[in-house]
Amino acid sequence: MNSMDLNSSIEEINNIGPVYKKRLKKLGIKTVNDLFFHFPRRYEDFSNLIPISKLKINEVSTIQGQILTIEASKSWAKKMSITEAIIEDKTGAIKATWFNQPYLTKNLKVGDSVFISGKVILSKNGAHFSNPIYEKAFDSDDLTHTGRLIPIYPETAGLSSRWIRYILKPLLSELENQLEETLPEEVIKENDLMPIKQALWEVHFPSVFELSKKAQDRFSFEELFLIQLFVLRERNRLNQEKSVSLPTKLEFIQDFVKSLKFKLTDAQKKCSWAILKDIEKESPMNRLLEGDVGSGKTVVAVIAALNAVKHKTQVAFMVPTEILAKQHFHEVAKLLQGFKVNVGLLTGKQDQWLSKKLKNQVIEVSRKKLLEKSLDGEMDILVGTHALIQDKVKFNKLGLVILDEQHRFGVKQRAALSKKSEFIPHFLSMTATPIPRTLALTIYGDLDLSLIDELPVGRKKIITKIIKPAEREETYNFIKEEVKNKKQVFIICPRIEENEEKPNSTWAGVKTVVDEHKRLSKDIFPDLKLDILHGKMTPKEKEEVMLKFKNKKTDILVSTSVVEVGIDIPNATVMMIEGAERFGLATLHQFRGRVGRGEHQSYCLLFTESYTPKTRQRLKALITSEDGFSLAQKDLEIRGPGDFVGTKQWGIPDLMMNALKDVKLVEKTREIAGDLLEKDPYLKKHPQLLSRISRFREKIHLE
Ligand code: ADP
Ligand code: MG
Repeated sequence: MNSMDLNSSIEEINNIGPVYKKRLKKLGIKTVNDLFFHFPRRYEDFSNLIPISKLKINEVSTIQGQILTIEASKSWAKKMSITEAIIEDKTGAIKATWFNQPYLTKNLKVGDSVFISGKVILSKNGAHFSNPIYEKAFDSDDLTHTGRLIPIYPETAGLSSRWIRYILKPLLSELENQLEETLPEEVIKENDLMPIKQALWEVHFPSVFELSKKAQDRFSFEELFLIQLFVLRERNRLNQEKSVSLPTKLEFIQDFVKSLKFKLTDAQKKCSWAILKDIEKESPMNRLLEGDVGSGKTVVAVIAALNAVKHKTQVAFMVPTEILAKQHFHEVAKLLQGFKVNVGLLTGKQDQWLSKKLKNQVIEVSRKKLLEKSLDGEMDILVGTHALIQDKVKFNKLGLVILDEQHRFGVKQRAALSKKSEFIPHFLSMTATPIPRTLALTIYGDLDLSLIDELPVGRKKIITKIIKPAEREETYNFIKEEVKNKKQVFIICPRIEENEEKPNSTWAGVKTVVDEHKRLSKDIFPDLKLDILHGKMTPKEKEEVMLKFKNKKTDILVSTSVVEVGIDIPNATVMMIEGAERFGLATLHQFRGRVGRGEHQSYCLLFTESYTPKTRQRLKALITSEDGFSLAQKDLEIRGPGDFVGTKQWGIPDLMMNALKDVKLVEKTREIAGDLLEKDPYLKKHPQLLSRISRFREKIHLE
């Protein structure tokens, strides 16, 4: 172990065998440094070190003594091995019993000095420690597993916390002097943060509880601070890029707004204006337009598109699926009727073209033709799926890129699209997923935000109800009635089918799409047309199912959560959700948004298998609130950021999951990162930070 350093691979650690190396890798631990940053999930408090005579039944404590006797025996009846020892100190003696650890007698011998931590229990065999933690040691200053606060790590099969402590502690001792401070000194000082060396010791082997907390706070701060530096620098970088300025052509915009069959809501006006102002600048816009399903984001995007087209630049409008592409193509074309705009549709399957010369008549064109029109600039707006990213698709002068349901596109895809022009086009992303404030300030912090926070008037409120098991029959009858009146129904189940990977687990008894589809078709709705949709189907199969549903060939669609977000099915009036407690509130709110698009009264019916007060309280929030943002914030607090888009690609560690709930800390780190960048925009004086956020950049851009 001579030349070990922080970047050494775990392969080089001598006392780890191949099996354990594999297990470590499974946890994502490849280097010594990874191991150091594998933090405990919690601590066990064994610091109450007392004489044997002071032991109390059912209290957790630690004793130090000598082994008086130790022997292993086998209980034949239960086929279990039992190891029994008697430990004594100056004040008395106590028995300790271990089950199924026959090797203990090899380790612990009569006369050994040991520390024993655990709870003393009373049974018919008298008072004794049952399965206590033991540690052979003379000196209480040098304990790892007993007599102190003990770290408990997230454990996967075959890697015990004891083993991790055993490997980690000597390594940390050996390499602690190589640990360099990763945060700027003034940041440490001004924010009273624990220096890294101390923090690593305190996080793994805390001296007192408060210091472990302070150590964690330091690392939370650091994670958030780095993200903030990263996004703020991305933002600065983009601000220096050149885009094309698109001053507002007010007369066209006014004509367009007048041509609409409805009045824009105030929120739509406000957002349109912010976007128009933004694309007047010479640096590229990078804006996220958020608004609940049905809040009318498309019109706002079309206003920006019209402005871009009137400056003779082109617009790419990218959406996640073919049906959605088609829907948008027709909608955009319809909205821009009479404004002399050429619109094209490019998907994997079908290409269409609507020319201003053709008087609003859609025609099929060859891919070749379409690409030509795009390249020579005759194409004003090209709507499509990710087929738009292909190298073959070229623009003459791309001014604006619109991404609908943007979380479905990765950073890489966005980068590809912006490369299609000599300058960077303006970017407008749209999403119906409300993003809580802390996330908006961190992982979406490189975007400007616009919110459409009101729905157009006259929308009927969707009736949301938690349905008792006894009312299931009645609910099915209600669904039959709705279908009789030519309405359509979604039934959402939490999973696809019985799964061998998760037998017996908490998923037992949870409804599956496959079984429900079968059962409902056969027993409950034999006369109705049911269909099935889930994530194991190919994109093509999914599209076909959605299309059939949209075209009213299906009455009831039994689906997992994959059911498409932006699709308009005005005829769907019932959203029934099985196992509702399994979904986040924001997700449930999105499901609910898939009905109530037409003029009919719509319903969201929640079934749950869980009757804990917590579940009821959570689901009740859905009944009382129609505000996606407050629901999303609740979700973040209860379930962490996992439900929100994009968090996966950031590889957010547990520690930061918690930090992300802390608005104050998020705001503070943003401010400090901003100050630092103001003084040192290129991080020339902080190469350490620069290299860390560059790695960040690489990571998220490669995914
Ligand atoms: P989303 O925000 O979910 O993408 P859309 O843009 O698809 O919403 O709009 C939903 C429906 O509402 C469309 O049929 C659209 O024409 C209509 N709409 C948009 N804005 C208004 C408005 N201000 N008043 C009335 N209807 C509107
Ligand atoms: Mg939409």
